[in-house]
This record gives sequence, structure tokens and C-alpha cells, in this order.
Amino acid sequence: MAVATRDYGLFIAGELSEPAGGEIREIVEPATGVPLARAAMASEADIDRAVEAAREALEGPWGKTPPNERSRLLHALADAIQANRKELTELETRNVGKAISSVKAEVATAAENFRFYASAIATIAGRSTPIGGSIHSYTLKEPVGVCAQIVPWNYPIMLAAWKLAPALAAGCTVVLKPDPATPLTALHVAQLAAEVGIPPGVLNVVPGDGPTTGAHLVRHEGVDKVAFTGSTKTGSEIMRLCAEPVKRVSLELGGKSPNIVFADADLADAIPSAVYGIYYAAGQSCDARSRLLVERSAYDEVVQGFTEAAARVKVGDPLDPETQMGSLISTAHRDKVHRFVEIGRDEGAQVLAGGEPVDGDGAFYPPTVLAGVENRMVVAQEEIFGPVVALIPFDDEREAVQIANDVKYGLVATVWTRDPARGPRLARRIKAGTVGVNVPYSAFPGLPFGGYKQSGFGRELALETLEIYLETKSVIAWTGAKPVNPWSL
Ligand code: NAD
Repeated sequence: MAVATRDYGLFIAGELSEPAGGEIREIVEPATGVPLARAAMASEADIDRAVEAAREALEGPWGKTPPNERSRLLHALADAIQANRKELTELETRNVGKAISSVKAEVATAAENFRFYASAIATIAGRSTPIGGSIHSYTLKEPVGVCAQIVPWNYPIMLAAWKLAPALAAGCTVVLKPDPATPLTALHVAQLAAEVGIPPGVLNVVPGDGPTTGAHLVRHEGVDKVAFTGSTKTGSEIMRLCAEPVKRVSLELGGKSPNIVFADADLADAIPSAVYGIYYAAGQSCDARSRLLVERSAYDEVVQGFTEAAARVKVGDPLDPETQMGSLISTAHRDKVHRFVEIGRDEGAQVLAGGEPVDGDGAFYPPTVLAGVENRMVVAQEEIFGPVVALIPFDDEREAVQIANDVKYGLVATVWTRDPARGPRLARRIKAGTVGVNVPYSAFPGLPFGGYKQSGFGRELALETLEIYLETKSVIAWTGAKPVNPWSL
């Protein structure tokens, strides 16, 4: 694969700039090990500059931009992403190593999300509640302020859009910190934002390491709100950093989501969807259905069907449109995934497919099937974040719900059954932010997405999301003819 190496600066106050600390890092294509680009990494001084630019924009041009103009600009940004989708898709595919067929959909969703919030601006409104007497009262919705947004490497452009669109719609300004390994598409989107006329400082992008640059951004006293997507461990640390200054925070964290197949399900749908549900993005998805719970009477049939279908998944060059699963994000991550598989073997799981890293320069790991897993095992409890499914049998509906809920996470669950009452019944009993019934998909612009339990709190993609970027102010005005004199003084 011939690749043109390119340099990327930080994006602060509407332009690309050199990093104050001078750090430039090589970005490598995980599928080939070949250098893709060089990107500047932000130091604390750069974060300070970005937060200052965001504050100036909030108190200056963006604060004065009326909602209809914000809406027009977000629609324009959606158009620009759409117009540049080919370049963005290829760049993201090379940078993350995921199959281009997946990335195409993610870039389209990023544009859709800007459109959704461009329209949703029309719903931002206070209300007047009659409270009696001579008091006229109403509420105002105001942007919460400067937002620090921190996103991981698995869906760089899509998750940046999930975060940026509602914040900008609400009238906030943003300092976005992408993962240092995958900053390229977010930097492109920031440039597109400037080109369509979003004022300088409204959207700043500062890639850098989490524990140093990221933590400095979270702690920064110029930041009013933190929105984070990443692991539960880091989310917990960010919550701690936000506690002392009582900073607003929302967290989208990890998952160990169940796919529950009942014997009465249409297995011709359930099995290939279960394969898609774990191996999409090579399992590097917060919503990966990494535990496949199967009713015992159908267990052998599902294990066989799943293993055969997993063997048919097209793994290979991420840029090939036929590829369904590309590489993992890095060889270091691949090794971490493999260590989990070894733990599973030691715990007594049977490895029915995959289970060994693929030779070569790329960070490839094959679709891996662990059967005979018990829910107490590490491989059933910990987020592996790779193409590894744990197959777990259950005896009845009660036990299915008990196993589904018996993890610290609660992001997504999928239920497969032909019984029309069972799906909605389980949807009430499963502790997860999204429950799918006979459908493997989990996220759409407009539908709330987020976690129960240690999968976090706050919802993305939805009208509700605007609320986490808004403050509500109550205004009380006296309209009586007589002056107010509570103590008759
Ligand atoms: P991570 O927590 O290691 O890193 C995520 C981001 O946080 C990166 O930008 C990183 O640089 C930054 N970071 C790390 N330490 C930090 C600190 N101390 N202060 C500030 N920032 C810090 O997560 P990861 O391994 O890169 O991403 C995968 C995780 O993200 C998985 O757990 C996955 O489930 C989760 N995820 C959740 C969702 C969701 O919507 N719930 C979506 C995608 C991914």
C-alpha cells in the first residue's frame, strides 16, 4: 500500500499550529505497520491556549451567534463531511485498521449526527410555569460553557461527532482531545468547521496522552464540563478529578454486553447477527455483544452454526471493500487480547476457532470462539475489546436475565426470540441502556445511547443529550401593582 506521509498540527483558535513542547509523533497504519502521518502532540501549554481560545469564542462570536445561525453552520459542517467522505473514510480506515465498509457507515453517521443536532436546536427552549400571584416566572436554557471532550481510538470521527454536535448546538465551545494514536479525522473535521464559517476557537482539537495532557485538560479551571468516552477505569479517574471542583461530567464507558438467544428464535437471523454483533470493528466496540447466552436446548446447534459463520468472516486488508474485519488498533492491543484468550483457556473454556495471533506485520487477530464459558470466568466478566466471543448456556428465562445482569457493565443487550411478549418483558428486566429485540444494531442519531451501572451515565445521540450541555436558569419577575415589601417595613 503506497501511503503519502503528511504532517498534522494542533488545531487551536481556527488554525493549525505547532505544539509548544515540539512533540511530533509518527502515526502508523495498524494493518501494515507502515508510517501513515506525523501528528503534533499537545503539551499543557497548548491545552491552556486551546481553553483560552474556547473561552474567548464563548464570550465573543459564538455566544452572540443566534440558534438559527448555529443550525445553519452545523448543517454546513454535515454537508462538508459528506462532500469529503471519501478522503475521511480512507484516512480513518488507514489510521484505525478497521474495514472500510464499516468506516463508510461511521463517517455517514457522523454527518447525520451534525444534521440531527442542527435541527434539534429548534427544541432548545425554556418554559413559563404559572406559579400564581403577581410573579411571572420562566426558565432560560444557557450553554454550560467551555467543554472538554475526550474520545478513544475505536471510532474516532463518529465519537467526535457524537460529542461535538450536541455541544455546539447548545452553544458551548469545545476543546476535543482525541486519542494520540487516532487524531487525523478529528483534525480534518475541525478544518472543515473553520472552512464553513464556524468561528475560531469554537472547536479546538488537541491530541495528546491521557494521563498527562488529558488530565490537565480535565483539571483546567477554564473548563466547565467534561464529556468522556473510554474505559471504565479512566472514567472513574476523570470523575475523581471532577469531584473537587464539582465540574459537570458525563461518562460513556465500557461494556460486556449479552446477546441472548432463545431456542424459539429464528436461528437463521440470530446466528449471523450474533457474529456481526461481536466481530464488527474486530470486537473493539463498547457495544460488542461479547457474551453469547444460548438456551441449552439450542446450544449445540448455535455453537456449530456460529463457529461455521465466524470462519466465513472476511478478514484482511481494511481498504478492500469486501473485507468485513480488519486489524486491531496495534500489536500491543492484539497481545492484550491474546492474553485474555490464554486466561480463558486456563479457566477451562474451549477455543473452537481462532485463538492465535496472525503472523505478519499487521495487528491481526482472527475471529475467536470460546465455548463452555461460565459467567464467573474472567473472559465473561472483563471487557476484552477484541474479536473474542464467550458462549454461555442457560436453562430458562430467569437464568438468562440473571446471567445478563451479572456483570459490572450495562450498555447494550440483544434478545432473540419468536415469542412476541418475551422481548419487551426482558427489555424491562435487563439493566442496560439499550435493548435490541431481534435486531443487532444499537445506535442511531435520535435514539438515546449510554450506560447503566459502570458503563457510565449521560446519554448521547438524543434530544436528552442537549440537556447535559445546558444550564437551566429560573427567572422570577414581579408584576404586581403594589411594591414588594415582605416584612411591611
Ligand atoms: P481509555 O480510557 O484508555 O482512553 C480513552 C481516552 O481517554 C483517550 O483519549 C485517552 O488518551 C484518554 N485518557 C486516558 N487516561 C486519561 C486521564 N487520566 N485523563 C484524561 N484523559 C485520559 O480507553 P480506550 O482503551 O482508548 O478506549 C476503549 C474504551 O472505550 C473501551 O472500554 C470502550 O468500551 C470504551 N468506549 C465506550 C463507548 C460508549 O459510548 N460507551 C464508545 C466507545 C468506546
